[in-house]
Amino acid sequence: MRTVPDFPEPGVLFRDLNPLFADAEAVRVVIDAMAAGLPEDVDVIAPVEARGFLLGGGLSIAMGVGMVPVRKPGKLPVVADRVDYSLEYGTASLELPAGVLRPGQRVAVVDDVLATGGTVAAVCELVERAGAEVAVVSVVLELPALGGRSLLGGRNVLALQSIT
Ligand code: IMP
Repeated sequence: MRTVPDFPEPGVLFRDLNPLFADAEAVRVVIDAMAAGLPEDVDVIAPVEARGFLLGGGLSIAMGVGMVPVRKPGKLPVVADRVDYSLEYGTASLELPAGVLRPGQRVAVVDDVLATGGTVAAVCELVERAGAEVAVVSVVLELPALGGRSLLGGRNVLALQSIT
């Protein structure tokens, strides 16, 4: 990965994972490591649009479980629920598709980066409001200086790497 200063706004240090996604061996290592860390009783993966989707497909196949994609507004034909939240740079909303996540399912929330935690906290809220359970939050990279875990309560968070 590489660090890009002043993106998407002045003062933000953006960690760009595109070099990782472009490297077949790196993708394999990352998917294998994420799959190895997930609890065996996970029923379904909830990857977050958009970079979480780049990980969710591989993880779904590696784990033998399906996916419930969590999407930005205006993409889903039928919406179960929506959460608005704050980002490191601005505000955003996420939506859960209707009729696919079942109450009681154990869910792995998957994204590329945990920064302030607002994004995955919103996903956890959607999952739990649907009556399912967050078994784990799995990310490639955590930026601990932004304090994301504090928004996630006692939830199980796995990060392959941290950068301070
Ligand atoms: P958070 O909500 O502040 O934790 O931000 C995490 C979300 O924003 C994830 O969906 C990431 O894809 C994206 N994000 C935030 N900061 C970065 C970064 O430095 N590199 C790549 N993605 C980031």
